[in-house]
Amino acid sequence: MPAIAQVPIAPSSLERFRPVLGNDFSQVERAIATARRMLAGRVIWHVNSTARGGGVAEMLQSLLAYTRGAGVDARWVTIVGDARFFEITKRIHNHLHGAEGDGGEIGASERATYERALAASAEELVGMVDNKDIVYLHDPQTAGLTEALRSVVGHLVWRCHVGLDNPNEVARQAWAFLRPYIEQADAYVFSRRAFAWEGLDDGKAWIIPPSIDAFSAKNQELGPEAVKAILARAGLIEGDGGAGVFVRQNGSQGRVDRAAELDQEAPIPDDAPLVVQVSRWDGLKDPSGVLRCFADRCRHPGAHLLLAGPSVAEVADDPEGAGVLAEIRAQRAELSADLRRRVHLASLPMDDLEENAAIVNAIQRRADVVLQKSLAEGFGLTVAEAMWKARPVIASRIGGIQDQIQHGESGLLIDPRDLGATAAAIDGLLDDPARARALGAAARERVRGSFLGTRDLIQHMELIGTLLSGGNRSR
Ligand code: UDP
Repeated sequence: MPAIAQVPIAPSSLERFRPVLGNDFSQVERAIATARRMLAGRVIWHVNSTARGGGVAEMLQSLLAYTRGAGVDARWVTIVGDARFFEITKRIHNHLHGAEGDGGEIGASERATYERALAASAEELVGMVDNKDIVYLHDPQTAGLTEALRSVVGHLVWRCHVGLDNPNEVARQAWAFLRPYIEQADAYVFSRRAFAWEGLDDGKAWIIPPSIDAFSAKNQELGPEAVKAILARAGLIEGDGGAGVFVRQNGSQGRVDRAAELDQEAPIPDDAPLVVQVSRWDGLKDPSGVLRCFADRCRHPGAHLLLAGPSVAEVADDPEGAGVLAEIRAQRAELSADLRRRVHLASLPMDDLEENAAIVNAIQRRADVVLQKSLAEGFGLTVAEAMWKARPVIASRIGGIQDQIQHGESGLLIDPRDLGATAAAIDGLLDDPARARALGAAARERVRGSFLGTRDLIQHMELIGTLLSGGNRSR
């Protein structure tokens, strides 16, 4: 079995951003021209561990499509790993967030397992790359490839998508595990300044926040009828199914054909105020806390809660999903009949990622309030996604969420451990639609200015330009 899989990427033209960005589009044009010149004859490789599910896969899908559309040979490959490898890398991931995860060690024996698991992928990759190429390695799963690649590629970049604001001992253990690998990279990219590890060469550290794609199935405009049709086809609301269509990345028409796997007494009523959280089924997203907060503290009459996440069978590098979903199901089953009627759990089909994205899009657009009550978060793409849809977002005052939401202007920041305050924020926005609309409108502008993929691409071109010109710059 091959140890590396290529993920196909259909090119997309950046031209579609011209009307969205107005005069600012000239910066994009300059970046495209520079990229074509400096990257002629080179490949930019992105290596991660899954093409499906989660924020990294989501971002690569669109950024690499636009990079290819700009005339650059960008390629995406994923490594394979067995259950033991992903158990260890998930543990490291949790540690990087400052959390113990499954409580297991990350010591010498885990290092041996980790390196052994990566050896086959390293060997295959070495056979694919050229010494003019630039390789981006994403997250802990791929950090161990630096040793094998450093002498055979032009430049190596390690992109870390997770981090925490106040490092603790648990996080430092993960840093110690990864440091020997990542120190061999030419640059490290973190999502925010506070996430750059202590003791790294500051001259190699770049701060580039993530971004969203305004035109993907996840974020493209959907009119009210399309939202209804998609939700009905997914089984979330009543309806005859309607057309339920969306535009795929390659420009063709897509249609939502698969229903979500639902825990609900009945579909969400048309007129019900709806609170939504969309996340992987992960303890750090605190779905259990969201449910408790809604059930025990929220007072708004008749409000419904929808917790949506990917079908748990499908996210290969996330072994915890099924267990977390089972806990939430059990928690829901304990609710009073009235509350149970108002709490919906949806596991969204992952067979077709764009279909999945279109359902997420419709869910976010149907929401009266979008919640992201994570206990740890690198950036929180779901926040930017909902903000772009002009939704009022209530989210934890942690990690990159704080860079997105300006409290009281473009959303509300809460302490995720304070269920009372979180519930008060939810009730407050459900009770005051005018305020909710104003927060939503400001949120959309915030994303237009700072969190669209075009900004991200410009920053990466700057990074690559710096590496190619032999420079070393801290940003
Ligand atoms: N997501 C999705 N389908 C789902 C649930 C989540 O496509 O059923 C997406 C979500 O819309 C977002 C990404 O997964 O784009 C999650 O990224 P985020 O940064 O919020 O969290 P992560 O999963 O990376 O911790």
